[in-house]
Amino acid sequence: MPPPAAATAPVDATMPVGRETPADRPYVSIVVPVYNEEESLGPLHQALVAALDGLQRTWELIYIDDGSSDRSFDHLRDFAAGDGRVRVVRFRRNFGQTAAMAAGFEHASGEVVCPIDADLQNDPKDIGMLLAKLDEGYDVVAGWRKDRQDAWLTKTLPSRIANRLIGRITGVKLHDYGCTLKAIRADVLHDVHLYGEMHRFLPVFAHLAGGRITELPVTHHARRWGTSKYTLAKTFRVVLDLMTVRFLVAYATKPLYFFGRFAFWGFGVGLACMAWTLAMKFGFDVFVKDQPMFQIGIFFLLSSLQFVLFGLLAELNMRTYYESQAKPTYFVRERCNLLAPPPRRAT
Ligand code: UDP
Ligand code: MG
Repeated sequence: MPPPAAATAPVDATMPVGRETPADRPYVSIVVPVYNEEESLGPLHQALVAALDGLQRTWELIYIDDGSSDRSFDHLRDFAAGDGRVRVVRFRRNFGQTAAMAAGFEHASGEVVCPIDADLQNDPKDIGMLLAKLDEGYDVVAGWRKDRQDAWLTKTLPSRIANRLIGRITGVKLHDYGCTLKAIRADVLHDVHLYGEMHRFLPVFAHLAGGRITELPVTHHARRWGTSKYTLAKTFRVVLDLMTVRFLVAYATKPLYFFGRFAFWGFGVGLACMAWTLAMKFGFDVFVKDQPMFQIGIFFLLSSLQFVLFGLLAELNMRTYYESQAKPTYFVRERCNLLAPPPRRAT
């Protein structure tokens, strides 16, 4: 007797909650973070629909209203009422662009996800070009605002410095991390979590998850409507975020190696100070007397002990992070004759 047909279509692990079958899965989900952009939304929506309809691929458009206090949401609700492919999430308050993008990614059901700004500084016509590049076998194609149309001193220059720094410290070489416009394969996004203002590090996290990354120059327009939500002061947060990212890139699963290095050097310097103190005590007065070497030595030895304890605590934390959520410490690109294993249970 033939086996009974499956009652339901298999559910794809990358499908968001609420979409049961991959059949109604569009090819591309466009994700648009919106914060007080009422003037640009009309022209943006028109331009997006025109560009997407020209692609010959199925699409959905997800707007995230990040707690706007103007009439942005009214516009978005009208777009959704007029077209079933338009979806809207409205935050209770302003949570920031990263949170808005993360919400969009979570609700996206496309095979490919494209974030884009709501102010029309990015050009929707570039989406097709990014998708074509993705088809060459990449997981992330990042937009590069080669001819950026923003104030040089307060935007372009600081962002150039930040881009250099990010490239050097993370080892992922791109010209423009800050460009929202990108094309990203959904299964890579599935392995990436965004916190704080980390959306600019998306390519770095995708690289960590084993994604193949490239970039393409895209058109950039000056802002015609509304105002920029970022000041120069906010750009400096990049430097703080960079420390977190650097730590994650190198040591997320082995924090004791990171702290252990400081402990090792601290211990070495502490021992040297102690040797100096002993040498002085036993009359080798070739050294300068009355130096506080003993105290400095104690300081370094105690610090190195602290670093080891810090590292051990971080190891505990790391295990809690991975094991409490049954997170694997690796990322899988494909499987042959195998399904994904069921989540492991903590014993
Ligand atoms: N944005 C957002 N929440 C915020 C700040 C910005 O959703 O708290 C959106 C904003 O509406 C725009 C995009 O993020 O669609 C980029 O913001 P903006 O154009 O102000 O940045 P800039 O281009 O000046 O760097
Ligand atoms: Mg902008």
